[in-house]
Order: sequence, then structure tokens, then C-alpha cells
Amino acid sequence: MEDLIMSHTVIDVHCHFFNAKYAFAELLEIAWRSSYDEYPYKGNERQLTASEQGSTSYDLKGLVNYVASLLGVAVKSPEKNYDDEQSAYSASEWHPSTPLMTVPLMMDIFFVGDDGSKSVAPAANGSTGAQRSMSITPEVSSSFEALAHRLKEEVLLAYQGALRSRERGVTPVKRSRTVERELDLVIKTMSKASSLQTRDVMDLKGGQVQMTPGFYQHMKDLRALQKKRAESVFPFLAVDPRRTGIEMLVQEQVIAGPFKGIKLYPPLGYLPTHPALYPIYKLCMQHDVPVTVHTSPYGFNTLCKRVQVLSKKRDGSTETITVELSQYPSAAAYFANPNNWLEILENEKFNKLRLNFAHFGGDADIRHSAESPGTPGNWTEQIIQLMNRFENVYADCAFCPDSDTMNWIKEIAAREPIVKQRLMFGTDFIMVMLKYEQDGLQTYFNNYLQAESAMVEGNARHFLKMA
Ligand SMILES: [Zn+2]
Repeated sequence: MEDLIMSHTVIDVHCHFFNAKYAFAELLEIAWRSSYDEYPYKGNERQLTASEQGSTSYDLKGLVNYVASLLGVAVKSPEKNYDDEQSAYSASEWHPSTPLMTVPLMMDIFFVGDDGSKSVAPAANGSTGAQRSMSITPEVSSSFEALAHRLKEEVLLAYQGALRSRERGVTPVKRSRTVERELDLVIKTMSKASSLQTRDVMDLKGGQVQMTPGFYQHMKDLRALQKKRAESVFPFLAVDPRRTGIEMLVQEQVIAGPFKGIKLYPPLGYLPTHPALYPIYKLCMQHDVPVTVHTSPYGFNTLCKRVQVLSKKRDGSTETITVELSQYPSAAAYFANPNNWLEILENEKFNKLRLNFAHFGGDADIRHSAESPGTPGNWTEQIIQLMNRFENVYADCAFCPDSDTMNWIKEIAAREPIVKQRLMFGTDFIMVMLKYEQDGLQTYFNNYLQAESAMVEGNARHFLKMA
């Protein structure tokens, strides 16, 4: 019997190999730029007074907690994370004879505190606001280090607190030297003014792309991993439309480079209708590049309570929408709504966009759709409607660790046959480890043993345009 099960390759169309160090580097970059009024763009080039610094429109605490949560599950390198995922898959009841094919999605968290009030008009050469005027020169490096160590302490305190609740007080939490050393390493690297990792722009043929240290390092590491494991690593580049010059980076890293697709994460404070995304959709259409977008009401959100977002319509008009996030249960509940994509998909230029609605609306809505179909506002059902209307709309089941998930999916697919051709398997490793103890990922793979081959392989091959 077991021989029948293991006959095909499995594709994990949604995983992450990032780590706490990238997130910590971005946290330091955000805080450093903010102290010179240069966040997210180059500003008035003077150090703010203490009272001015307190007036930022975002609360860094959320980011501190995010870095701390990653410290509990993701301190290893991307390559080690890749190896860990392969080991869990090998040890699972799939008894695989070939490696898992993985689609690691990059994350860009730099704009998590951007409330949109300082948006710059995108310049033709992409250089507007990209550059940071306040480099970490020897003269200012001691003030950078003071800031960095203060944030390190905050992260470690949050980490200890988080671990304590995670382990329900059973194990006393000691300060981990390993974890501390990792953070110190980030501070040391960023303090070196000459370091490549502190570069704030990347010079490309068409102009300059805004760069930040964690983003840059993660991109570099995924490139290296893809080179080494070309047959089983298909990375997606993180795109935030607010990153100046991002279209050029897509040209270089995706169209002409090793990245196979694009990852969007709107809950950090933008809509799919952001004007800077249109040229990218155009590129994706021209080159048949797949796009994966976060579509669940959970996850990491913008730190701002009010965000001004740009939105461009089919008729060419652009408006600024002010979103009061206190009116929503979470920022994702507003920004990740699948129907935000109607404006794009109903545009005949983009109705064939290869689009994966990651998380299929989230496990709660998947369950509701199976158990009480037809509830108004169910995201899983909204996505199914989009699947029925548009030929290249897909979804993945990432971060659905419940052992009943396959039963819910079967229930839904019996009612909506399109799901059999469009739903893909995904783990959301390493984020899903926040839900699990050590060997949890193996359980995750085992939960999907009953999935049809289309779900674990065929649909993803179509989405990825893979032979
Ligand atoms: Zn994810």
C-alpha cells in the first residue's frame, strides 16, 4: 500500500527560510532612520530631539515582539532551515524518494511603520528618497550602538516573556547566549560603515533601488541557496510598492534573475491597487511570472493605527484613502481582503494574472466554508468565486495545521470542483513552527497524506509554469 502513496513529488508552494537576524536588522534600520527623520525616506537630515522622536506615528513594540517571536523558531541560516524542512519531510509518512520542492517566500518588513504621510512621488530613475543621508559613520557609530543595544535588550526581554508563556511556566527561561550572540553579530555588522550590508541603495542599470540591510541579506542568502539547490528551491522576491525603485529590482532579480515569482504582503499597509504595482503586474503578464499574496486575517500587521494608502483605478485616477485601522479587527482584515483584487482582475489587462491567494482565506474561514457554507463575507468562498471567474487564480493551504483540514477541503471541493484544480499544498514553515513543538512539521506533512496529487504537485506546476 505504501508504495502507492509515494509515487509523486510534493511541492511546498509556500514556505519561508528567513530568520530573526533579518528582522532585527530591519528593526535597527527603521529605528536609526527614524531618529534622523529619514524613515522611510530621506528627510530633513537632522537628528530629532527626544520629544520629536516620541511623536512617531507607529509603535515599535509590535516589531520588537515580532523579532522576539522569530527568535524562538528561526535563528538558523536559510540553508539550515531548508535542511530542517527536508528532514521533517523525509521522516514523514510520505516516505519520499525525492526531495521536497520548496518555494521560499521573501518578506519585506521595512515599511511596517510607514503611515503613508511621507510618501514620495516615484521618480523616473527611482532615486527619490532612496538614499539615507545619515550613514553610520565613525562619528555617529557610538550613538547607533547605544540605540541598537537598547533595542536588543527590549527584544530579549520580549523573547523571555514570550517563551515563558509558550512553555506555560514549566521551564524557567534563562537568557540564551546563542540568541544574544546572533543579535550582537547584526549590531557589529551594521556598525561597520564600510559594510556592504549597511548599503542603503543598490545601483542598477535603470537607476537606484532603495536597500535595507535585512532585506538585502535575505535576498542574497536566498540567491545563494537557489544556486546550490536549483532543482528544489524556487524563491519568490518580496515586493513592497513603497520601496523606491522596486520595479527595477523585479527586472533584475525575477525577469533576468533566479527568483521565480513575487510575494506581496498587503497587511503591512498597502492595497493591490497601489500605483507602483501596476508596472510590476505588467511585467508579470509579459513574462508569465506568478504572484503570491497573503490572504488571511492573521499574521504580522502594520504598526500604524491610521494609514494613508494610494489606490489607482482602471480609469487611471489615483486617490489617497485614509484607513482608520481601529475600525477593523486587524489590519489584515482590511488589507488582505480577496475582493480588494477585483479592481485588478476585472481589468482586462490583468485578468490572466497568475495569482495565488495564500492561506485560502485562513483556516477559520476554510472550516466555516466546509461546515456552514454561504456565510456572507467568507474569504475562502470569495476566493473560490475568483477561481471560477479567472483562469489563473490559485490558493494555497499554508498555515493550516489542524488535522481536520483535509476533511474540510474535501467537503468544499465536493461542492466546488474548481478547488481540485487550483488549491495547492503549502506549509508556511518556518512561521508554522510558532504553533508547534520540535517535530511538529512532520505532523503537518502527515495531515496531508490524503491529498490528491493535483493538490500536492500538479496545480503548483501549473501555477509556477514548471515543466
Ligand atoms: Zn507565509
